[in-house]
Amino acid sequence: MKKMELLAPAGSVEKMKAAIAFGADAVYLSGKRFGLRAQSDNFHEEEMEYSVRFAHDLGKRVYVTINIYARNADLEEVEKHIRFMKIIQPDGVIISDPGVLRMVKRYLPDMEIHLSTQTNLTNYEAVKFWQDMGVKRFILARELSSWEIRQIKRETGADLEIFVHGAMCMAYSGRCLLSDFLASRGANNGNCAQPCRWNYSLVEERRPGEYFPIEEDERGTYIFNSKDLNLLSFLPEIREIGVDSIKIEGRNKGIYYAAGATRAYRAALDILEDISRRVGEDNPEIITKEYAGILEPIQRELSYISHRHYTDGFFPGRDDGTPMQNYGDNSYIRGSDFLGIILSVDPIARTAKVDIRGKFVPGEEIQVMGWKIQDDYFIRPETILDDAGTTQEFTRPNTMVNISLEPPIGLEPGFLLRRIGQ
Ligand code: SF4
Repeated sequence: MKKMELLAPAGSVEKMKAAIAFGADAVYLSGKRFGLRAQSDNFHEEEMEYSVRFAHDLGKRVYVTINIYARNADLEEVEKHIRFMKIIQPDGVIISDPGVLRMVKRYLPDMEIHLSTQTNLTNYEAVKFWQDMGVKRFILARELSSWEIRQIKRETGADLEIFVHGAMCMAYSGRCLLSDFLASRGANNGNCAQPCRWNYSLVEERRPGEYFPIEEDERGTYIFNSKDLNLLSFLPEIREIGVDSIKIEGRNKGIYYAAGATRAYRAALDILEDISRRVGEDNPEIITKEYAGILEPIQRELSYISHRHYTDGFFPGRDDGTPMQNYGDNSYIRGSDFLGIILSVDPIARTAKVDIRGKFVPGEEIQVMGWKIQDDYFIRPETILDDAGTTQEFTRPNTMVNISLEPPIGLEPGFLLRRIGQ
């Protein structure tokens, strides 16, 4: 059976490198415009060119999103952007607008075209239609059940990609006017203000200033606030269906999220491949059972990174009445604090230079997060020195420090530091 691709978000060059280092087979990213994530750092042209080269040198793939619904006024710039793709040669471009598709085919006839989830692909006839239009890969709507995905694969044999992890919309993936209506910021131009996460009350027009609570089952007022998707436990079924690529959402999120989510799914996929090879592909029940037995530490990893309450979304079919909204609040949960990134290691001086992202104190037990979950270990840096060599009582985010290590065994540039628990 063909190996599933693990596709991770890259909202910046730093996140792209982290996603690849922590196990992604491919990353998706976008330029400063046209990529439906106006809030993330995104890439200048030079950064995009560099990133494609960087990934290709490591045998990884890069897909560039050009998935806005373009207006006439956008077309000239879109054309320039598409022509730029000819220079940097990513492995595919992700589009949703038929006009953009037409332009890609005109200027880049050999480019692999992926159809964005923004297109809301929900049936096999739609997939066949876009196949006729020259699309190679289909990023299915998050609203589909496993049975529907299976049917689409069977009827089309198409290259399918599905989201397995990350934030979800309460509307059909992004086709939502809430943000446009309430904040004059268009979701379909990548500029969503996320009003689905706001706390709503009811106001009667002749009683301004009087806010009446909206309560559903007394659980609160965040009536549109979707939980985050987590399909880790369904990977055996997803693999057995023949899905070609599993995708992690989150270009707006930080490097720790990109690294943590990618590393968890990498671990799960590798173990799943091992089990399938050992017990044989024709034993799906045994594969699923054995896989379920190894999940606990990997799910724990996903609880460490920032997330809303998790849901398995529409994948199992939604007839059990389980709510997919967080009615109680709009806050994130995370079971760890991100503290820093190892930049370099000096084994003679027994120190490591760290790009600090969180506060810790000398002597505190913190965890080193290596490329693989089983490689994690704890350290207690006895001293913290700033660049001038002055001893620090604690670390300050967005500074560089040297920490002492006794000895710095196994530490590598790119490893992350974190505190488990809060
Ligand atoms: S407002 Fe919420 S549901 Fe609508 S596009 Fe934005 S994130 Fe999605």
